[in-house]
Amino acid sequence: MTDPDCLFCKIVTGVLPSTKVLETDRVLAFRDINPDAPTHVLVIPKDHYANVAELARSDAALAAEVLAAAADVAAAEGVTESGWRLLANSGPNAGQEVFHVHLHVFGGKPLGPMISV
Ligand code: 5GP
Ligand code: ZN
Repeated sequence: MTDPDCLFCKIVTGVLPSTKVLETDRVLAFRDINPDAPTHVLVIPKDHYANVAELARSDAALAAEVLAAAADVAAAEGVTESGWRLLANSGPNAGQEVFHVHLHVFGGKPLGPMISV
């Protein structure tokens, strides 16, 4: 399931470049192009789902794989002990910009308050 108009599907298929951090059969992790922390990695299923709800309700096993990959990214980045944060935006109030579900993995510095308004 690939959407030819989707930015992250284009990264999955290699039409657009990315800096890969981790790859499995069904999951890809790559560095955010505009990082907000020393570690800022995006973890996505290779199949196209618009958001967390769509992924979780369509393929719970894949959702679990994405979550486990995020933990593997944290370990690979060496931030397991220092601490890291997972974030997933859904919809306008959260500022979601790319409608291919992605988990942001942040770490490598004190991350401050959970949200700013
Ligand atoms: P959202 O706001 O949808 O949660 O996050 C989208 C993220 O994708 C942003 O942090 C943005 O910097 C990142 N991004 C947008 N375009 C690209 C791109 O072409 N390559 C990479 N690696 N990241 C991108
Ligand atoms: Zn997509």
